[in-house]
This record gives sequence, structure tokens and C-alpha cells, in this order.
Amino acid sequence: MDAISSISSRISYIESQIAALRAGGQPGGVATASGTATSFAQTYAGALAGTESAALGATGAGAGTGKARLNASGVPADLAAYGNGRIPAGALSQVGDTRHRLWAPAADSLNRLIADARRAGVTIGITDSYRSYAEQVDLVRRKGLYSQGGLAAKPGTSDHGWGMAVDLDLNSRAQAWMRANAAKYGFTEDTPREPWHWAYSPRV
Ligand SMILES: [Zn+2]
Repeated sequence: MDAISSISSRISYIESQIAALRAGGQPGGVATASGTATSFAQTYAGALAGTESAALGATGAGAGTGKARLNASGVPADLAAYGNGRIPAGALSQVGDTRHRLWAPAADSLNRLIADARRAGVTIGITDSYRSYAEQVDLVRRKGLYSQGGLAAKPGTSDHGWGMAVDLDLNSRAQAWMRANAAKYGFTEDTPREPWHWAYSPRV
């Protein structure tokens, strides 16, 4: 059911995007609904394929099987070409019904994590997710460089810039739940001084 609901939510999202495009019209006015759909199908093919394989490859709470989709630096190959913090919204996947976006397998896994936590009576909130290059620059200005005692990565190097990290709003019970369970979903607490920061890596 997880795989089916995950794919269903992905399809619903794509349909909503198509509807938005239709509502917005197309330059020249020649694009038919089916043409728009075809264009979107092509645009989203990679992300959707990743979603499906991650969902279908997952067992229980397991994370995706995305090793083949990562480059040598551990960056999703389908995103690396865009550059850190320069990924178009359409290449990322919405987390639940929030405004937050992540690499599709990370979003799917986080959706499962949040749902399972909720069933355990634990609320997991999200404060930040994908972060554009400009947002990374702004964060350094506001929070200082991590290497200098601050809380922001050097712009262009943040896992947030790949849609591979999420900042969570966790009370003490939720923090404990994450530390006990998040690894099953591919999320790890990998940054000292930032207990809210959870990075995603697919199961290999
Ligand atoms: Zn973070």
C-alpha cells in the first residue's frame, strides 16, 4: 500500500501541475491539453521513475534503493547537472501537502516517516528543506558560516541545495523518536550542533 499510495500522491501532484499549466495558458496559445500533458510527462519522467522505483523497491520502512542514481559525490545524478541550489522546482518533489520540496526519494521516505511517527503519537514538523543558492547566501549572512561557529554551510555545498536534507521541528519526544527510528528511513543526524538537521541517503 505504501508504494501505491506514494505513486498515487506523485501522480496527483503531476496532475495538479498540469492543471496549473492549463490554467496559466501557454505562449502562442497552440498547446493543447494533451500537448501540455506530454510535455510534463517528459519533464517529470526522470523524477517519477525514481519515485516509482524507490517506492516499489522499499520494503516496510526501508528507504529507496537509489545507489545507482547517485554520482561519486553522493549527489543524485538527475540533479547534479543543475548544480547545488539551482534545481528547478519541477525536478523536486513536494513533501506531503507542505510547501517543502526534496529529491523525490527523500520526499517519499520522509512522508512515510512522518506518517509512521504520527501513528506512534509523535508529531514531526518541517521548518526547511530544499534551499536555493541565494537562500544559502542569505543564511550565511544571517547565521554565519558553520566553519566559523555559525550554522550555515558554505553556499553551494549544503545538502539542502540538493534537496537531500531537511530541518525538522522536534519536541524532545520527537527528537528521541527520530534518533531511534530515522535511520530506517534513510535519514541521519549528521551535523553536530544541529539536532534539527537530518540528511537523507538512500539505502545501498
Ligand atoms: Zn539543515
